[in-house]
Amino acid sequence: MASAEAVAEYKGSCHCQAICYSVELPSLFSQLETISCDCSYCRISGSLLTFVDGIKFYQGGEVLKEYRFGSHTIQIFFCGACGANVYNRSINPKWRYGKIALNVRLLHDVDPEMVKITKVHGRNVQLPPLAENST
Ligand SMILES: [Zn+2]
Repeated sequence: MASAEAVAEYKGSCHCQAICYSVELPSLFSQLETISCDCSYCRISGSLLTFVDGIKFYQGGEVLKEYRFGSHTIQIFFCGACGANVYNRSINPKWRYGKIALNVRLLHDVDPEMVKITKVHGRNVQLPPLAENST
C-alpha cells in the first residue's frame, strides 16, 4: 500500500509553549512506534519516545536545558521553564550514536492511546562510558 511510506509534519511544544517545533513522522498513528522506557529518568518523566531524523525548532530552542546521568552519554533536553522533556540524544559511539528520541507526548495531534508502545528495560542497560577508549 502506498500509504505505508507516507509521512506528515507534526507540531509540538512544551507545556509553557516557550519551545515550539515540528517533526516528520508516519502520517498514520498506527504506524508510529514508540518506546516506554523504565530507566531511572524515564520512569519519572513518563516520556513516550520515538526516533526521528531531526527536529525543526521555530521558537525557543535556546530555552532547552541539558541533563545527564549515569554514564553521561545520553543528552536529555527539557524546557528550562516548565521542565517538559522534549527529546533525548545519544552521544555514545557504542549505543545508538546520534539517535534522537522525541517525546511524543508533547506533539499536538498525537493521541498516546493510538500509538504502538514497546516496553524497553532501560534500567538494565549499562552504557559504556566515553572515557573507555578501545581503539
Ligand atoms: Zn516550557
